[in-house]
Amino acid sequence: MTSSDFPSEKRSYGLVVVGAGPGGFDAALEAAGEGIKVALVEKELLGGTCLNVGCIPTKLYLGATSPVEELEAQSKAKVAKGEIEIDFNALCTKKDRFIAATRKAMEQKAKNLGIDIYRATAKILEPGKVEVSRPGETAVLEYENLVLATGSHPTVFPGLEPDNETILDNTGFLSLTEMPESLLVIGAGFIGLEMAQIAHRTGCRITVVDAMDRVAVYEDPEVSKALQGIFKRRKWDIRLGVKVRSVSAENGKAVLRTEDGDELVADKALIAIGRRPNSSGIGLEALGIETAGPGFVKVNENLEAAANVYAIGDLNGHILLAHAASHQAGYVVRRIAGKTDGPYEHGPVPSILYGSPETMRVGSMPADLEGKGKVETSSFPLVANPIAQAYASTQGFVKVIWLDGKVAGITAVGHHVSGFTTAAAMIVQEGWTENDIHKVVFPHPSLDEALLGALKADKQAL
Ligand code: FAD
Repeated sequence: MTSSDFPSEKRSYGLVVVGAGPGGFDAALEAAGEGIKVALVEKELLGGTCLNVGCIPTKLYLGATSPVEELEAQSKAKVAKGEIEIDFNALCTKKDRFIAATRKAMEQKAKNLGIDIYRATAKILEPGKVEVSRPGETAVLEYENLVLATGSHPTVFPGLEPDNETILDNTGFLSLTEMPESLLVIGAGFIGLEMAQIAHRTGCRITVVDAMDRVAVYEDPEVSKALQGIFKRRKWDIRLGVKVRSVSAENGKAVLRTEDGDELVADKALIAIGRRPNSSGIGLEALGIETAGPGFVKVNENLEAAANVYAIGDLNGHILLAHAASHQAGYVVRRIAGKTDGPYEHGPVPSILYGSPETMRVGSMPADLEGKGKVETSSFPLVANPIAQAYASTQGFVKVIWLDGKVAGITAVGHHVSGFTTAAAMIVQEGWTENDIHKVVFPHPSLDEALLGALKADKQAL
């Protein structure tokens, strides 16, 4: 079936997948690979949030602008001079072309595997039946198994509503064809901080506002402090502990008003205050599926929301990251294919904030381990690492968290620290002790040696 076909009669599938983001698309691909007849229903674009308005465009922007940041560091170290300018228009074109080509390749891959793609909105009708509809057309798909992977959308509060002209969400920001001279960023989480870095690198003045008392609140407090220090050195205006009352577009400017009566004005504002699940309107009530918090679909230990119905990715709210969605997809398909009957388990899930500096975190942080045993930390400053010196980017550190003598978590902040995330995840997964440090040869010179340095450093009890 081509994507333009729409069934006039009922069609039956071994698996119907709703949503073609990283979770849904991977589930469809893996199931087709198992010989299961698959329908993939997507109401917008193949690739979902991640490919179109999330992970990929932000990293294309950060990757392309990274040399500017690196040259600035070298220029501060007085070993480079002159100016280099980003052609933002050319960058937007490159981004749009890459994403469109990726979508095309995804569609081709799905078709080659015999997956039926429906460009339509899906809604559960009753156990075993999903309605797919688009203007003027409706059809019913019968399923043996259903995977719901409808993802999430930006959180909106009254008074903080994007118009995507002056007040932007992630989609609006990534649609800009010209960077404003000044940008208010509301929310100092990873989306806000990555986008603020992109804007800063293209010459924009940044003001970051957050209600919390530190940036990147999900990170270890020492990591937040280091990040904040680096951004402040770049002359970002960072205002913490500030409760925003409203952000409005007034005379072409973004005007932010705080609960304390202060006012901040910039050319544009970016609202990046979290994500909410896409769980309404998909017919959960037809199967008695429950939600929790802002609408995350409740699942059991097998990621099942109802019999033969799975909810994966951002929709279940476990971990709002693309690789978590893909990992859950793999488990669900193995389960459907009869290759596993145990509960869903994942090892340590890494989390990265991209840019320069980057942060990486995997496993447990000290705050997670209170009362669980003897907690110690050991760390290594990047200033003592030759590769960090070579890049003239020496701010930051690697920190290892030990629980009862075993590595329970690793975090780092600094230039390019995401490079050793997988190694760190394996060390945490294996629960290395001091004796394991010599099992692996770390290359020299490398930033990975900062990780080795942190593993070997004297431990501090907490
Ligand atoms: P989504 O990718 O949101 O896909 C869901 C799909 O379902 C959408 O295409 C939607 O149109 C479709 N859909 C919804 N309802 C229906 C319906 N009723 N019928 C048919 N289709 C429907 N994660 C990372 O791991 N690394 C990163 O670097 C990273 N960067 C990010 C940067 C930004 C700016 C943002 C916003 C997010 C970022 N994320 C990142 C998070 C990542 O994008 C999400 O965790 C991931 O996309 C979740 O995948 P998903 O499959 O659950 O849902």
